[in-house]
Amino acid sequence: MKKIIAANWKMNKDRAQSRAAAEELASGLAGRKAERTVMIFPPFLSIAEVSKALGGCADTVVGAQNFYPAESGAYTGEISLAMLADAGASWVLVGHSERRHILHESDVFLAQKTQFALSRNFGVVFCIGETLEERESGKLADVLTRQISQGLSAVFDMPSNLLQEKLIIAYEPVWAIGTGKVAGDREVLEAHAKVKEILAAQPGDLSILPVLYGGSVKPANAQALLALANVDGLLVGGASLEAKSFLNIINA
Ligand code: PEP
Repeated sequence: MKKIIAANWKMNKDRAQSRAAAEELASGLAGRKAERTVMIFPPFLSIAEVSKALGGCADTVVGAQNFYPAESGAYTGEISLAMLADAGASWVLVGHSERRHILHESDVFLAQKTQFALSRNFGVVFCIGETLEERESGKLADVLTRQISQGLSAVFDMPSNLLQEKLIIAYEPVWAIGTGKVAGDREVLEAHAKVKEILAAQPGDLSILPVLYGGSVKPANAQALLALANVDGLLVGGASLEAKSFLNIINA
């Protein structure tokens, strides 16, 4: 399977900056050295620009960082999947630690979002990961088990070929996101093996799902991370904002 390299731009870049970055990415992707699937998650207002710029790039998809799980209606300030599809998005992030911890999205709500997106033909990158406090108090396995078994509870009866194509897990230790502290090899190996084990234990056996690593990935550490067992790709925040740096990660 091709490694998956995903960019989460978070709340950065206006439309002109997004277009410039996407155009630079598009010309870089034409000469990409490694076989990779590339995913870009820009801010909502830039999705149409980025989709247009990357339209001709093979194995490249555009997604949204958030959505509300209803078709339309009285949800002030929210955005629907139909609106996102209209702008060119086909994937969504669900469960990112910033939405869990800053926006207080619960496991129950994340399960609802995951089920809603998959049943409307959107792909989902479902993020999980422990805080430093949870890791230091020996709760890593419990946290990952809870996040997976509750967050994915609504997809267990979906066909496995749909899940294989449309559902990706991203393991992102919260203490490594945006902090410059990348998890060490031993920590990544241990956590990814645990994630695969927990996925295998779910109804229907979800161990076929790709598992990405995220947390302070940079061009300098990307290759080593991609070489670790059970690391099927990378989710990149800060280092994806500059096209050159993200292209170096893609080509790592
Ligand atoms: C992220 O936001 O998913 C992330 C991994 O951020 P960073 O690469 O900046 O740590």
